[in-house]
Amino acid sequence: MLTSIEGKTAVVTGGSKGIGKGIATVLGRHGVNVLVVSRTLEDAEAAAETIGPNAAAFACDISSWDECQAMAAEASRVFGGIDILCSNAGIFPQTSIEEMSPEEWDEVMATNLRGNFLSIKASLPKLKESTQGRVILTSSITGPLTGFPGWSHYGASKAGQIGLLRTACIELAKYNVTINAILPGNIVTEGLDGLGQDYLDTMAASIPLRKLGSVEDIGNAALFLASKEAAYITGQTLVVDGGQTQPESLEALNA
Ligand code: NAP
Repeated sequence: MLTSIEGKTAVVTGGSKGIGKGIATVLGRHGVNVLVVSRTLEDAEAAAETIGPNAAAFACDISSWDECQAMAAEASRVFGGIDILCSNAGIFPQTSIEEMSPEEWDEVMATNLRGNFLSIKASLPKLKESTQGRVILTSSITGPLTGFPGWSHYGASKAGQIGLLRTACIELAKYNVTINAILPGNIVTEGLDGLGQDYLDTMAASIPLRKLGSVEDIGNAALFLASKEAAYITGQTLVVDGGQTQPESLEALNA
């Protein structure tokens, strides 16, 4: 069991729902103080309540520099610092290049890419003071490894996170802060509920482990990367996709 994390403080952006809530829940269960962040305060408060007394909520739009600075200040005020930044918040509208407005492209980049930069920059003064400084990005298989129609902007933003990772790894190393990225495959979240059972079954059939991932699967990966045991791992990507990106053909998948 990874107990080296108890008493540390984590900021989880997008922690009110889905994968971020899974990360916040797993960290909270292991004794981490968690600041749950989303734009909607009530949702962040509801998630923090389910985690327990070691969790607090804060409303922040991560595409805003002022709000990211306020987020870091709140973590320091409530918990005395920041050891772990889980830069997880992201949006994924699905629109073809033909149909997409320039504004939609910019909105996705502002949240999914600029939001990582701003969250890291705002948290860095506190991460530098930590003896176990960690940044964990939630990227995706979509973009760095695969493509999906309608997600050109999303895929570009998620691949962009990996470019950010590579240079940030070098810059943060001198403060003994590590940065790594988790690349989830298809994870069951509230957001998928509306897509129907047929969609979920089809997705599961394309995965060697024949099931979608859970938010706890991603939380467990984050827990490891945040632990003392992962201290020498930085600049890396960890794919958590049930093997989805491995078969080279349908024949290979179903052999
Ligand atoms: P989700 O269920 O829609 O949750 C998104 C979270 O981000 C919510 O808490 C949302 O709260 C918050 N958020 C959105 N925009 C924000 C902003 N500008 N500032 C602050 N918070 C913001 O999404 P999810 O499926 O868990 O995805 C989370 C991350 O995992 C994303 O980066 C996504 O790209 C990645 N991912 C997901 C999957 C998957 O299968 N679900 C697969 C690969 C990668 P508010 O709306 O209240 O702000």
